[in-house]
Amino acid sequence: MINLQSKLPAQGVTVFSTMTAMAQRLNALNLSQGFPDFPAPPALLEALSQATQNGYNQYAPGDGLLPLREQVAEVFKKRDDLRLDPVHEITITPGATIAIFCAIQAIVHAGDEVIVFDPAYDSYAPSIQLVGAKAIHIALNAPAFSVDWNQVKDAINDRTRMIIVNTPHNPTGAIWSEQDWHTLTALIQDKNIVVLSDEVYEHLIYDGEKHRSALSFPALRERSFVIGSFGKTFHVTGWKTGYCVASPALMKIFRQVYQFASFCGVTPVQMALASYMQNHPEHIAGLSDFYQQKRDLFNSGLQDSRFKLLPSQGTFFQNVDFSAIRPDLNDTEMCKLLAEEHKIVAIPVSVFYQQPPEDLRLIRFCFAKKEETLVLAGKILSAV
Ligand code: PMP
Ligand code: GLN
Repeated sequence: MINLQSKLPAQGVTVFSTMTAMAQRLNALNLSQGFPDFPAPPALLEALSQATQNGYNQYAPGDGLLPLREQVAEVFKKRDDLRLDPVHEITITPGATIAIFCAIQAIVHAGDEVIVFDPAYDSYAPSIQLVGAKAIHIALNAPAFSVDWNQVKDAINDRTRMIIVNTPHNPTGAIWSEQDWHTLTALIQDKNIVVLSDEVYEHLIYDGEKHRSALSFPALRERSFVIGSFGKTFHVTGWKTGYCVASPALMKIFRQVYQFASFCGVTPVQMALASYMQNHPEHIAGLSDFYQQKRDLFNSGLQDSRFKLLPSQGTFFQNVDFSAIRPDLNDTEMCKLLAEEHKIVAIPVSVFYQQPPEDLRLIRFCFAKKEETLVLAGKILSAV
């Protein structure tokens, strides 16, 4: 008899797969999983076609096509006045998820501890568990979802190897202030602790706020991985292409693992992104305005509803509190009711917690949608 033992025995199917499948089954409006329902820029699609026609169809260099790494360096130069070496400090990966996974594999050992802030993106904890380390969950303070720094201070010990930061933050849309980064730096600068900074929503930031990358703080340069995703920035989540940036010493350790997790990313996609980024700098420059309009349109549709809007400073997510409507339901039950009776699908925020607060009555909507979808969503939700 074969005796199979899962390394993630309690793990079900992710909430994103579950909710998108529910939307399809019920033929409901899908504002759950984070992806655009509008097309990618035509020039980007054309660039992909060109790349395949021009022969970019075999393995890319393991660290990524250099022109794309140079474009990533350009973003950091423009925004943070940071001079990155694309050869030794930037690696292109098939999506941000695998970059996060490899950074954890590379640095965190069995028995180590990794601090994560709840609600947390769902891939962090299983990736930590798979190396035999322990995730230490610290809940952010609702409704601003700010960090309780005293708790962080108390949680740090000799086993702490990594702290995972996510700004702008999925699922809440909160962003880290300059002070947050300074406080973190003061807590870890004399310790053997690495920062994994998930910045996949770096270009989606609203109301004149500014994205602060871990790498823009000199004291964090030698101890931070920054992770990005072209899928979010260029409306192509299905292209699964992301990047990791770190100091040469950290990057060397990252690549020792990454070369065996994937070896390289998808060649023509990298070529297409590099040429589009070079020829269309206005795409990134206009992205915050583009998405802020969508956020505002979605929110104006909910103005006369009984849902209470929480602040969304970044990402393409809007959280709403439904306690004025059905305080008797938890968020999963509320999402089920919305899907089945109102034909609209959202994500319950409790799934992003190890231990959700009892009184949590929040659901997350993705507003990366066409105008007509957002207007329809407003109509549906106003009638709930
Ligand atoms: N981190 C966060 C916070 C995300 O929301 C996502 C979105 N999927 C990812 C990582 C993964 O990005 P990718 O699709 O490039 O793997
Ligand atoms: N990041 C996306 C979200 O939060 C989905 C990612 C996924 O499906 N794994 O909705």
